Amino acid sequence: MPSLSNKTGLIVGVANKRSIAWAIAQAASTAGARVALTYQGERLEENVRELAGDLTDPLVLPCDVTEDAQIARVFDEVERSFGGLDFVVHGAAFAAREDLSNPFVQTSRDGFRLALDVSAYSLIALSRGALPLMEKRGGGSILTLTYLGSERVFQNYNVMGVAKAALESTVRYLAADLGPKNIRVNAISAGPIKTLAASGISGFSSILQHYRDRAPLRRTVDTSEVADAAVFLLSDAGRAVTAEVLMVDGGYHATGM
Ligand code: NAD
Repeated sequence: MPSLSNKTGLIVGVANKRSIAWAIAQAASTAGARVALTYQGERLEENVRELAGDLTDPLVLPCDVTEDAQIARVFDEVERSFGGLDFVVHGAAFAAREDLSNPFVQTSRDGFRLALDVSAYSLIALSRGALPLMEKRGGGSILTLTYLGSERVFQNYNVMGVAKAALESTVRYLAADLGPKNIRVNAISAGPIKTLAASGISGFSSILQHYRDRAPLRRTVDTSEVADAAVFLLSDAGRAVTAEVLMVDGGYHATGM
């Protein structure tokens, strides 16, 4: 496993023990990093604080990514505690339940705005906040989580597919903008995993079964497998990789008939 020793990171998107961001937090901590975790709203605070108890000297902070003031406070606190920042993991996504079950053509303006704000714009806002802290370290690595629904149609993924397309494009533009400062920006496109976010997608179990039947590895992936790939991209082992969407999906993306 590549090392993250002497590195500090901010991880956004932990809701519970099934969260992909939680697996990344654990793997990053095992690889030697000190991490800050955020939680979205008081409802999730207890969960996240309890999980953070497993990590070495964690920082736990509130952050709703639609609130600029909360984002600013996170980076103030991170700077105070860590001095600088080596990596950011962005695992926040949201769409209204009706937009993940109604016909796509019914997507409302508000539903579109919300999905794109939480799931794509927030990567820009977090990257901007991280920039001065990463410059202090001579560079950094920013990682987000996406899904193949950005390019292909999966039933009921709907506006989240549009948000993921925007997110993947955002990765490329940020990578171009921040590359001269030695800040890398990448995404992992994970295969489907049963998490809280996934439970909002109607018919998710049939997507899982389809991957078991069709992916080259004939199985789905788990969060620890996504986390291992994440540690590679966050570490110096990934130092020449930027603007990339790394598929961690058992090869499903390559299948046709
Ligand atoms: P999850 O529900 O555990 O994580 C989603 C997180 O987004 C939660 O922690 C939630 O609190 C956070 N969030 C939502 N709105 C927010 C807001 N306004 N401010 C701050 N945080 C907010 O589910 P997950 O599956 O681990 O999702 C993590 C990421 O992985 C998401 O981007 C998701 O789209 C992506 N992803 C998931 C799968 C899958 O099948 N589970 C596959 C590919 C990509």
